[in-house]
Amino acid sequence: AIAADAPAGGAKTAADAAASGVWVFIEQRGGHIRNVSLELVGEGRKLADELGEELAGVVIGDVVADIAREVFAAGADKVYLVEHALLKDYNTDGYTAAFTALVEKHRPSVVLLGATNDGRDLGPRVAARVKTGLTADCTGLGIDPESRLVAWTRPAFGGNIMATIFCPDRRPQMGTVRPKVFKKPQPDYGRSGALVRESVALAEADVRTRLEDVIQVCTTSCNLEDAEIIVSGGRGLGTPEGFKLIQDLADALGGTVGASRAAVDAGWKPYPHQVGQTGKTVGPKVYFACGISGAIQHLAGMQTSDVIVAINKDPDAPIFKVAHYGIVGDLYEVIPAIIARLKED
Ligand code: FAD
Repeated sequence: AIAADAPAGGAKTAADAAASGVWVFIEQRGGHIRNVSLELVGEGRKLADELGEELAGVVIGDVVADIAREVFAAGADKVYLVEHALLKDYNTDGYTAAFTALVEKHRPSVVLLGATNDGRDLGPRVAARVKTGLTADCTGLGIDPESRLVAWTRPAFGGNIMATIFCPDRRPQMGTVRPKVFKKPQPDYGRSGALVRESVALAEADVRTRLEDVIQVCTTSCNLEDAEIIVSGGRGLGTPEGFKLIQDLADALGGTVGASRAAVDAGWKPYPHQVGQTGKTVGPKVYFACGISGAIQHLAGMQTSDVIVAINKDPDAPIFKVAHYGIVGDLYEVIPAIIARLKED
């Protein structure tokens, strides 16, 4: 166990002891909440109950009050809402200023953000401004029974060990958590909570970047985090054309195509398809690993899948240690046979 580094300058204050409340940054785009935020509300509920504290969602945007209902339904007691025309789209300056102001005013004890592009940008900046530490890219959360501190778990040393990290003397304790580590809670639309509107003083000059355009490089075809069925291919495909077979199996199953880093590094599939420690963390109902050996860095991104099916010609491949169903054989024979069988149904 190690202590999260905090920037120098802050000291434990009486206010730290008074810090209370578990907060979740609710990431939204166009009024739609990202799944990871709801996953964190579900897990934040457990932390808040264990600590005997309140659970709040922080919603920042422009004309986004409607999504508070979804946050309450997922388990929050309270929603802090900041609406401003300059906060319509995520931007580093505006969101950092708004979130920092809220933290300084209300002094939560725990802040959770998704380990997404926005969460990874916002979390460390807010942590630095309020002089606390942040544990990035967590894959597990809990409360240490003795110290009552949040125990943040994350892979360390290239994924070879799991480290448990504490932030003992600064508040809030902050961390980013990977998508799909926790299950999204079942919404209970009978729940409601307190909606607290907060204002933030922001001028055009405070926001140094402007979003001109959004260019969609990949649509649902590589939305791996939300996919229920994923068919992934690895170096065992031998050639980039092998992904045609992977796509055929994905199409037959209504699934999405993933890839190992070896396949991505070889240029056979673009990076948004990569599953693993330096790619996406996925948790589908079914994950097919085809021609993938099962290196620890790949497993780090998919081992929470409900059912894992491995196809590999090497019976000793490590992937078989985590697979629920293993097929030892040449994928160029096995996959066409599966597709043919699926087409019979
Ligand atoms: P290989 O390990 O080469 O495995 C190919 C497999 O295909 C073998 O098991 C072989 O038996 C099988 N095979 C060959 N031909 C056939 C056939 N015809 N039919 C059936 N099976 C066949 N990797 C990731 O995937 N994601 C990551 O995010 C990631 N991040 C990393 C981060 C770091 C810091 C490091 C150091 C590494 C990372 N890696 C990651 C790389 C990882 O260590 C492995 O190198 C990589 O996962 C191997 O990819 P692979 O399984 O496709 O290839």
